[in-house]
Amino acid sequence: MQLIRLIYSSKASAGIGYEDLLRIRTTAVAHNREQHICGVLCFGAGVFLQALEGERGEVNRLYNRIVTDPRHSDPQVMSAEPISALSFLDWSMKLVSWDEAYTPHRRELMLKLLGMTAFDPAEMTGPQAYHFLRELSVHERRITSSNPVVA
Ligand code: FAD
Repeated sequence: MQLIRLIYSSKASAGIGYEDLLRIRTTAVAHNREQHICGVLCFGAGVFLQALEGERGEVNRLYNRIVTDPRHSDPQVMSAEPISALSFLDWSMKLVSWDEAYTPHRRELMLKLLGMTAFDPAEMTGPQAYHFLRELSVHERRITSSNPVVA
């Protein structure tokens, strides 16, 4: 079995709101669990940034389905590479709203740490996108372990 991680960004369609994000998450969690796919979906400033990890064929099939979804457009693959271990194993699909993930001060610190000035996937390299999502996941794990009710 060959494992890969695929990271892409896309633009949310007009009118996409919190209810849509929850609907996407519910479908994603149910489907990804079945296909042993895991990852993180970050939404901010009208843009999606998603990492999908799992068996190569399954990840490709899922990506090809996701890009036809009318809830977003202009998908851009930022990186797709073989991996030996899963970075987002805890989550069938973790949904993170960038605007609510941190206080403004911490958001600024995180961006600075990663050498970025704003959450703007169009300006991120593939490795930066991965590090960004990794940092988010570390933060989310901390919240979950200190307050299991949030999980
Ligand atoms: P169905 O549920 O039968 O839907 C048929 C078509 O309608 C599909 O083209 C679907 O994209 C579209 N559709 C479904 N619901 C809506 C809606 N409420 N409004 C408008 N169009 C709709 N799915 C996963 O399984 N895993 C993921 O990780 C995942 N990540 C996603 C990330 C983003 C940014 C987006 C926008 C969608 C994501 N999805 C994910 C959803 C995915 O695109 C499919 O809708 C889902 O997998 C169900 O596929 P289906 O073929 O069973 O379609």
